[in-house]
Amino acid sequence: MLKTDVRYLKGIGPVRGRQLSRLGIETIYDLLLHVPRDYHDRRSITPILNLVPGKEVNVSGTVVSSVYLKSRNGKRRLESIVRDDTGEVKLTFFHFSYIAGRLKPGVRIVASGKIDFFGTISIVHPELIFLDEPGSDTRLVLPLYPLTAGLTQGIMRKLIDTVLGEYVSKVPAILPPETLISMGFQNRSEVIRKVHFPDDPEEGRRARRTLALEELFVHQSLLNYVRTQAAKRAGINMNPPDGSLAEFINGLPYSLTGAQNSILEVIAADLRRNVPMRRLLQGDVGSGKTVVAAAACSLCCRSGYQAVLVAPTEVLASQHYRTVKGMLEPAGIRCGLLTGGTKTSQRRDLLESLLDGSLDVLIGTHAVFEERVVIPEMGLCIIDEQHKFGVEQREKLLSEREPSPHFMLMSATPIPRTLAMTIYGDLDISVLDEMPPGRGRTTTRIMNRDSRSSVYEFLLNRIGRGERAYIIYPLREASEELDLKDAATSYEILKRGPLGNFGVGLLTGAMKPEDKLEVTGKFISGEISILVSTTVVEVGLDVPQATVMVVTHAERFGLSQLHQLRGRIGRGGGDSWCFLMKSEDCGAEGARRLAVLDSTDDGFRIAEQDLQLRGPGEVAGTRQHGIPAFRIASLIDDSDLLEKAASMAAGSDLWESLRGEYILRFRGLDILEL
Ligand code: ADP
Ligand code: MG
Repeated sequence: MLKTDVRYLKGIGPVRGRQLSRLGIETIYDLLLHVPRDYHDRRSITPILNLVPGKEVNVSGTVVSSVYLKSRNGKRRLESIVRDDTGEVKLTFFHFSYIAGRLKPGVRIVASGKIDFFGTISIVHPELIFLDEPGSDTRLVLPLYPLTAGLTQGIMRKLIDTVLGEYVSKVPAILPPETLISMGFQNRSEVIRKVHFPDDPEEGRRARRTLALEELFVHQSLLNYVRTQAAKRAGINMNPPDGSLAEFINGLPYSLTGAQNSILEVIAADLRRNVPMRRLLQGDVGSGKTVVAAAACSLCCRSGYQAVLVAPTEVLASQHYRTVKGMLEPAGIRCGLLTGGTKTSQRRDLLESLLDGSLDVLIGTHAVFEERVVIPEMGLCIIDEQHKFGVEQREKLLSEREPSPHFMLMSATPIPRTLAMTIYGDLDISVLDEMPPGRGRTTTRIMNRDSRSSVYEFLLNRIGRGERAYIIYPLREASEELDLKDAATSYEILKRGPLGNFGVGLLTGAMKPEDKLEVTGKFISGEISILVSTTVVEVGLDVPQATVMVVTHAERFGLSQLHQLRGRIGRGGGDSWCFLMKSEDCGAEGARRLAVLDSTDDGFRIAEQDLQLRGPGEVAGTRQHGIPAFRIASLIDDSDLLEKAASMAAGSDLWESLRGEYILRFRGLDILEL
């Protein structure tokens, strides 16, 4: 019954149905869970003498007079004078059919609204409580809902009031009774009633927190379920020959960092267990995740299985291919590259050699997941920087095969713990928290537009010494709506200027894969020294000679995003410089945000700041992560509840009973079919 479409409710026609739908309200349940953003507290009454224009107030008094007036343009209005012990205030109504006749002299009311000054202190369209009328809404604390055009607080309140009366007793229980009691409620119906119509705002907020906890609990229960199911699957118990890891490490041109070594020990142990590994490897840009991936592939192949390494773009896939092949082929492990751009004949050869087992490691883009690609002995699957690879995709990939391959996700997006628990709650999380030695320093400078010429002079000077530079724009092409510089136009200008002599290339997301590969290839080889681009370069590209980055309209980017961009430089031994160019209209707030980057290069701290300042959807790379659409819980304000929800979920096996609730709330997920 809770699933019933709101359009079946009395008084809701197609127009209202569409308005509600804009707020994400489709069902009666949605309506019940449409919690107020705040409350209007009519319990504190301001004496009329103390009224000041601009303030939201409640006034209590007796109607002295009500008159209908006609303005010059023929519009009618109703003006009532209300008096208390201290003075008089004017109430004005332009639409008044619903109160016509009720504001008679002598009637006692509470009027709420914003004070204006039109010749005298007045309130236009106040909300009214008729103290003497039976049946009028005398509730002193009223909900303020998120609205959309065409809806008013009054309409929403009425709708929700009706639905509450009829349906609130039918909502299923979710949180254990003792939890509800500890939050001050007897049962869930009471929580929902009180979130809408509390006795005081504090009670309303307590009810909202309870519903937030419940929402997080439902979500954490799903993750907990996925985790326990996964742990029951048969894994592949790998047995690489003794000394395999040492052999791999000895073949490297550098020694591993302590962090790389200890992660590899953990991974090696994971691979030996007969439970499939499910791990997230987080490591700031440049912390050296690729070599960890290569080592894991080598252990897998030395045990007689095949490995897959997936990157988000062709450019990164071919970079990985070059790097990983260089590390593995000397040991006789054969690598292949498969992307959307792979030629048909090559593709056929690749598929064949996968089938007959002569290919050990397949590196590629999403193309490796196509149905035609059969990897008979897949023992390990590593996904690098694939933000779209959410819990559903992970499950799909891992649950379909028997035994289930080991799995590792790698990400340079440092994610605050709350977000990580929400997005990756089904994975074990490891952090690569040490940078390889011998890196130069990266200096970050926040610049005004006035200093452009000195920045370009600086850039020219570095390029003249054989170094390379990125110039980043917020847009890929000129836009009519936004007056911003864009990569394509600037590229045309720059290549004709003094920088042109050093070779300028353009890399944008809209380019054909082979063109992207060509231009990055030239940048890597040094044929061009300047790469003009957008955020497409933010992940993974590894060109140690690049020492300068200029980001235009820097305040338009997220902090984590800028941090990722900045990670493209400072990969060689020398010093690097990142210039963040502010727009003219950057503003104090934008400047304050940018200053965070100047003050730290700890990706986790930056991501925390981003989460606080811009919300979870904007933390770099998390936009497509499939952050669940929480309707009540906030990952910023309710992070303490998330911890609580997680531990409650871990200790319970209520998933089966919550499945229906999950579908109702989160509109279902493929994963539930599994
Ligand atoms: P990310 O973690 O951002 O993917 P990469 O794997 O691309 O980082 O590594 C960045 C650079 O650091 C590469 O040029 C790589 O060769 C180098 N590197 C990785 N590990 C080490 C190490 N232990 N010592 C020195 N250089 C290293
Ligand atoms: Mg990488």
